[in-house]
Amino acid sequence: FAPWEDAKAKPLISFDNVTKRYGDFTAIDKMSLAIYPKEFFALLGPSGCGKTTLMRMLGGFEEASEGTITIDGQNMAGIPANKRAVNMMFQSYALFPHLTVADNLAFGLKRSDMPKSEIQGRVEEMLRLVQLQKFAKRKPHQLSGGQRQRVALARALAKAPKLLLLDEPLGALDKKLRHETQFELMDIQEKTGTTFVIVTHDQEEAMTMASRIAVMDHGKLVQVDTPARVYESPNSVYVADFIGDVNIIEGTVTEISEDAAELSWSEHNNGLRAMVGEGVTKGSSAAFAIRPEKVTIDTEEPVDRHNRVTGQVEDIAYLGNISTYYVRLATGQLVKAQTANNRRISRRNITWKDTVWLSWTDTAGIILHK
Ligand code: ATP
Repeated sequence: FAPWEDAKAKPLISFDNVTKRYGDFTAIDKMSLAIYPKEFFALLGPSGCGKTTLMRMLGGFEEASEGTITIDGQNMAGIPANKRAVNMMFQSYALFPHLTVADNLAFGLKRSDMPKSEIQGRVEEMLRLVQLQKFAKRKPHQLSGGQRQRVALARALAKAPKLLLLDEPLGALDKKLRHETQFELMDIQEKTGTTFVIVTHDQEEAMTMASRIAVMDHGKLVQVDTPARVYESPNSVYVADFIGDVNIIEGTVTEISEDAAELSWSEHNNGLRAMVGEGVTKGSSAAFAIRPEKVTIDTEEPVDRHNRVTGQVEDIAYLGNISTYYVRLATGQLVKAQTANNRRISRRNITWKDTVWLSWTDTAGIILHK
């Protein structure tokens, strides 16, 4: 499933050079974006980067100041929210407290052009979809948080929208329930074939559920890619740093080929060999980025590895399944190395203040433009 790689695939949603201004403040800045049918598309970025604004424009609650938004081939300019094949599920769920679960689901259908005779069947279908058949007669206050979330989801899907917008859909749930509900959401999305666009501040949630993630900054898209590519091949320090944990070492690019580069960073150390990120050129200042779990920690010098540095263990964070070692280099940099605690028992012997070697392969890191 990768319609974005298929030049002939038709997007469900197209943003063409869309700008949204509030007074003289630009919330969305010349954005172009295509989202395909059946995608589970996640918007990720710091507070104020424009995620909600983008959703509100899709939902028909805001008009673009410039540019064109099309949904299913139709220009959305001037089309009000209730005339779009789009629904939105809010974090607060906004269920009617005095109506039963079944009546909450039927409410929107009664106001649509669905024949009365079909409404009951549709409500039952939706109850089955979210596995709440037994709860049809309950009121929202008689449900758990997770069940309320499912009612809200069923209600949002009842009219079979082509596109469902979800603003922090799991935000009100505790961590364990959040994890379980992620898989339920994915399952329901797949069963209904609805395109989901979700706003979340939880990068793990986005990584788990999304077909693609858009990382935003100040009203612009920085990278739009699959979770694996955003993590493994970030296109900038901003993305590397925003998604997951990363070590960054700055320097100058001394050598570059099609897929590899070397960064000089300290006269006392080997240059750092790594993959090449977008827009990196020879002689430019750049940043080497590596995930802590790709850094190997040893007590002996690993002479067979070109990328190796030595330092002193300053802190160790033991998290049960993994441990993170914070190693201070002679250059003053702090580098994190993370190890799984199920292997290499010898690592447990590494303790505070030990002198250690950190090393990694030539393809473990990536050199990024600054
Ligand atoms: P959060 O994660 O905090 O919800 P966000 O990424 O969803 O943030 P938006 O709500 O889209 O951000 O807001 C983007 C920017 O536009 C913010 O700086 C915000 O202050 C501004 N903004 C949003 N709505 C309005 C408005 N109606 N009038 C003026 N400025 C607005």
